[in-house]
Amino acid sequence: MVIYLVFPFESIEDFNLRLSPEHEIFRKSVREFAEKKIGPRALEIDEKDEIPRDLLEEMAQQGYFGIGIPETYGGQGEDHTSVVILTEEISRISPALTVVLGTNELFAVPIILFGSEEQRKRYLPPIARGEKFGAFAVTEPCCGSDVAGIQTRAEKKGDKWVINGRKAFISNADLADYILVLARTSPPPDRRSRHMGLTFFIVEKDTPGFKLDQKYEKMGLRGSHIYELSLENVIVPDENRVGAEDLGFLIAMETFDRTRIGVAAQALGIAQRLFEEAMSYVHKRQAFGYPLAFFQAVQFSLVEILAKLMASRYLTYLAAKLADEGRREFTFVASLAKFFASEMAEEIASRVINLHGGVGVIRETGIERFLRDIKIIQIYEGTNDIQRLVAYRQLIRILREKNLIPEEVARLVV
Ligand SMILES: Cc1cc2nc3c(=O)[nH]c(=O)nc-3n(C[C@H](O)[C@H](O)[C@H](O)COP(=O)(O)OP(=O)(O)OC[C@H]3O[C@@H](n4cnc5c(N)ncnc54)[C@H](O)[C@@H]3O)c2cc1C
Repeated sequence: MVIYLVFPFESIEDFNLRLSPEHEIFRKSVREFAEKKIGPRALEIDEKDEIPRDLLEEMAQQGYFGIGIPETYGGQGEDHTSVVILTEEISRISPALTVVLGTNELFAVPIILFGSEEQRKRYLPPIARGEKFGAFAVTEPCCGSDVAGIQTRAEKKGDKWVINGRKAFISNADLADYILVLARTSPPPDRRSRHMGLTFFIVEKDTPGFKLDQKYEKMGLRGSHIYELSLENVIVPDENRVGAEDLGFLIAMETFDRTRIGVAAQALGIAQRLFEEAMSYVHKRQAFGYPLAFFQAVQFSLVEILAKLMASRYLTYLAAKLADEGRREFTFVASLAKFFASEMAEEIASRVINLHGGVGVIRETGIERFLRDIKIIQIYEGTNDIQRLVAYRQLIRILREKNLIPEEVARLVV
């Protein structure tokens, strides 16, 4: 088997990033906003498990909810790199707030990619303006990683659909005005095609039969809430079906391919902040008559953190750039970025707490919360092991396309 020197790419130029002076101006402005407006309230958001509504309004005024939404539908454009910059900078201060950006994106992307023109015009502009919020309901008590196993059903009655089932772990369901719900609409044709027969529907929050049930208490990303939902004879018109009937699984996967770049950026913001905190602390804190930074073990730790942070940043920005260029390899890189950045950020959080000694575990120091947050980032939108599976399958697809692997072997893996 011949593998290209720069596999999975064919040219070293594919490793270039695509960043402009406008991106840097945007980054600086988000940082300033995040530090000034969110910073003083970040600990309170975690402590009270509540995101103040006026903060969301201020973010809306900045146009942040329109990033990633095409201009035709009231957004600032579909630039994945800007989504990464925004997410990283806000996550650096309050990761929970980026979950609102993330759930909006999970709602909007399937509509942008597969929705009807009427759906785009009706649902995207209010999301872009920050007047309405979206949620994405795939997971159920039975099934998270195994999306094809979901049991919620939608039955067609004339030109309407009747949805029945339960959803679990749905982020921002309390904030959301519109919820994208995945349901089984026809039985799978055979065991190997379990993913067929699922369809997405938009459910508006006041639809009779739709109810928020239990709210789960969780360790991190406090401020953003997760709920169990019940759908009992929820009736939606066929106009609320997003994309083709029975192809919902593929729509979900296409969506996750894109949104997981933002998840990697959440991890990146956490890692960046923790590195800055550690750099500042080790030069202030004295032990044995010297600043901590005097000791080589501390210096080693900091440069190792920096290497991991920079590698995470590269993968995340590369995924965004490839997505912006419409290159299909972006999905592969996005999976690498999600699991790598979130695992590096956990390690960095642990090391940075250690570097702070006792004050590292005190809540008001504001560091331990990042360790609680990052655990969740490793789990949602496809656990890290699922990312590894996805990445490997994509690798095999690329090998297959380039005729670098026997077809019968490729078929066994993908
Ligand atoms: C805070 C939070 C917010 C969430 N928000 C949303 C939301 O807004 N919308 C939504 O739909 N869902 C949401 N989820 C659900 C989330 O996507 C799932 O928890 C996640 O996909 C994992 O599913 P699970 O919890 O059922 O774990 P399981 O699928 O039961 O997995 C348990 C473990 O088994 C491993 N595993 C499973 N299958 C395989 C396999 N084939 N190979 C190797 N390992 C495997 C997993 O990696 C994991 O380590 C949220 C979850 C959390 C914690």
